[in-house]
Amino acid sequence: PELSVPQFVLAGAAERRDSPALIDGTSGETITHGELAFYVERLAAALAARGLRKGDVVAVFAPNTIWYPVVFHGIAAAGCVVSPINALYTPDEIAFQLKDSGAKVLITISLFLDRAQAAVAQAPVDEIVVMDGAEGHASLRDLLTTDAPAVQVDIDPATDLVTLPYSSGTTGLPKGVMLTHRNLVANVTQSRPLAGVEDGDERIIAVLPFFHIYGLTVLMNQGLQWGGTVVTLPRFDLEQFLRAIQDHRITRAFVAPPIVLALAKHPMVDQFDLSSLRSVTSGAAPLDESLAQAAQDRLRKGAAEGTSVGQGYGMTELSPVSHTTPEVGLEPAGAGPTPKGTVGYALPNTECRLVDPATGEDCAPGERGELWVRGPQVMAGYLNNPQATADTLDREGWLHTGDVAIVDDEGRYTVVDRVKELIKYKGYQVAPAELEAVLLGHPEITDAAVIGVLERDTGDELPKAFVVRAPGSSLDEDGVIAFVAERVAPHKKVRLVEFIEQVPKSMAGKILRKDLKARA
Ligand code: ATP
Ligand code: MG
Repeated sequence: PELSVPQFVLAGAAERRDSPALIDGTSGETITHGELAFYVERLAAALAARGLRKGDVVAVFAPNTIWYPVVFHGIAAAGCVVSPINALYTPDEIAFQLKDSGAKVLITISLFLDRAQAAVAQAPVDEIVVMDGAEGHASLRDLLTTDAPAVQVDIDPATDLVTLPYSSGTTGLPKGVMLTHRNLVANVTQSRPLAGVEDGDERIIAVLPFFHIYGLTVLMNQGLQWGGTVVTLPRFDLEQFLRAIQDHRITRAFVAPPIVLALAKHPMVDQFDLSSLRSVTSGAAPLDESLAQAAQDRLRKGAAEGTSVGQGYGMTELSPVSHTTPEVGLEPAGAGPTPKGTVGYALPNTECRLVDPATGEDCAPGERGELWVRGPQVMAGYLNNPQATADTLDREGWLHTGDVAIVDDEGRYTVVDRVKELIKYKGYQVAPAELEAVLLGHPEITDAAVIGVLERDTGDELPKAFVVRAPGSSLDEDGVIAFVAERVAPHKKVRLVEFIEQVPKSMAGKILRKDLKARA
């Protein structure tokens, strides 16, 4: 539908005024669908009264709370563009994004004010708004109690930007990704047929951050558009997460692989009643097949008969979803159950190609290639970066994802790894994700990450494993090397091992290989 994001997401609010749209998973504080629509309208009026105009950028630097969606949609309803900032960023990183995006206003919380002010000293904005209030700053309450006249902004969903998220910065500096109203509306619409939603009945847990596109589209906008309830948590803490699922009878969890790892392996999981969970979907990083299966088996043992663990694939540039596994029963006719290691089918209106990056030719059936995607969810381009845009988005509208994938006869895709992260060893290519999956199969290994370490004299990259051992384990380096060697072809063997306390990961659940490379 050709609607702005707030019009689309809040469309059903009138029918369900008094039912909860958002619940704070720790305090229980609630915003109803009616209140959400009211606050959004008031915030848009207040921002316009402060002089903000269509196309102005407002940066939001905050953890997940029930007020985040109010802020997001209020800014969008004023015709402005939301640039969400990673809650873990340092003042320098915040300043980079403020400058690059040209943000005029920064909205934050009192706990983050020190970092916000240090950033603004380098990259000035017109105003800092502190959501929960602080001396000398406007608060969200001040803005929401405005008596400014309502605003009517003419938005062209096809060309006007609604958000300017930054990519995770996994492979280099984060890039500002220009997403239109149509990009986001399309992506929520496209995701629906494979999700099998019960309108108004879903309770979604929002533990992944709203500042990342996955949290923003899938948890926040999709969750609210379904008309159910979104339960927010400020960060991932396993006990808090499990308790929130139990207490709020959560039906769907959209997570990342570290949470699936906990669901499969952590002893605490059995202490909670998770029987309300119908589905768990993992995205943002590779998820191993046996880990997904183990998590599903465990959840089903806990009486959640129908619980399924699936996957989605996406990137900031895709708003973010291009592929997902269907809910059980919604597979295409005759296709049968979706294998656990796959990211499922391309969404409706999403074209895909697998291309040999060297020649630009389509791969033969059954061969691995770089995944190219075309559809209404593909970004408008990178901000201030025509070179990166030209390298990623071609003239025919194909987005070159930089990820290697393979497709089966039924049209189900499996993501192998990033082109850039494949380890080059004696002319072979070794996928770190594959070795990590093997390592996680060891009963005494609780987590693992693999990188390639350059060997100067040969120019080869040696697969090096960083391994977290279970408490009390006496596993040594040779034990790790031998375990992997028994399970993979000789060229894929792990050749170096280092034991560490914890694998560094981003809030969105990605292994921070950059940090491990620096360490190596
Ligand atoms: P940057 O582009 O700044 O280096 P990034 O690519 O990590 O950072 P995001 O847009 O957050 O930034 O992540 C998209 C990437 O995440 C994809 O290109 C892919 O490598 C990975 N990814 C997402 N979902 C999956 C999945 N289900 N399986 C494997 N990889 C995935
Ligand atoms: Mg990327």
